[in-house]
Amino acid sequence: MSQLVTKPLIMANNMTDTITTSQNNNTTTDTDNSNVAGHSWFNRPVPGVKQQLSAPLTAVETEPSTECSSCHSMITNTALIFNCYVCPHCDHHLPMSARERLQWLLEQVDGELGQEFVAKDPLRFVDSKPYPERMKEAQTKTGESEALIVMYGKLRNLDIVACAFDFRFMGGSMGSVVGDRFVQAAEKALAERKPLVCFAASGGARMQEGLLSLMQMARTAAAIERLRIAGVPYIVVLTNPVYGGVTASLAMLGDIHLAEPKAMIGFAGKRVIEQTVRETLEEPFQRAEFLLEHGVVDEVVHRHQLIDTIYRLLAKLCSQPNVMA
Ligand SMILES: [Zn+2]
Repeated sequence: MSQLVTKPLIMANNMTDTITTSQNNNTTTDTDNSNVAGHSWFNRPVPGVKQQLSAPLTAVETEPSTECSSCHSMITNTALIFNCYVCPHCDHHLPMSARERLQWLLEQVDGELGQEFVAKDPLRFVDSKPYPERMKEAQTKTGESEALIVMYGKLRNLDIVACAFDFRFMGGSMGSVVGDRFVQAAEKALAERKPLVCFAASGGARMQEGLLSLMQMARTAAAIERLRIAGVPYIVVLTNPVYGGVTASLAMLGDIHLAEPKAMIGFAGKRVIEQTVRETLEEPFQRAEFLLEHGVVDEVVHRHQLIDTIYRLLAKLCSQPNVMA
């Protein structure tokens, strides 16, 4: 006697499915013991697995949180903001967006510069996608129009101009608009004799603009030279990471170079150098602490002391009274 057996299976999403294992037209559905047994088996508590359904949710589970890229602990965004984006568990310095960085530095923001500059696509550059499309994606992702933000305002009793690179915007790459904005910041600093502070975080020149982006190295260097001649202070804070054409121009031409702990700073990447010199380069090669030992960086400053340090240096360089003293 042949029989058709239809067996309910419990799927992961709690849906049932059927398997047919016979050829006969005589259809019977097993709805008695095996079906009930299947459900009860699914709902049966697993020995050794603690069910904590009634346990109250922690702040990390209810609040938007960020994972520390160093120790992988979850930190609520509120805790991160209050701790200046430094991990409270391992002291790792997480990246800050350019806008947050400047609003954190300046007690009073009087205005923003360079918003009128818009990137063009003179080379009609296409890599895996066209340059304008890539720009649009970066703008949507970051909410910024370009990779450099310039603001002016007050740092305690000092009027300063400050700019910051946003690494999330196409790797903080320097195109012609970044050059335009930096030069405008330097010109304002020069005209009003206000010190200039730059937070660098960049992968280098923007390849989509070819030679035009490389020209920004010369333009920014010339603007900084005019500041130097006029005796207007220019401080660079090297944050993680600074590479390529930005290192080779505006990031290494400061009167004083500060760096955040463990920031990666260099011209070519470590792997490229290793392939060229055929040597293995061990940690902390290209780290801020390594560069401090070799005289490239003047001081490695913890983010919690960074504003105080910048202020003390600027007050000294501008011969202004130090209100913290
Ligand atoms: Zn951490």
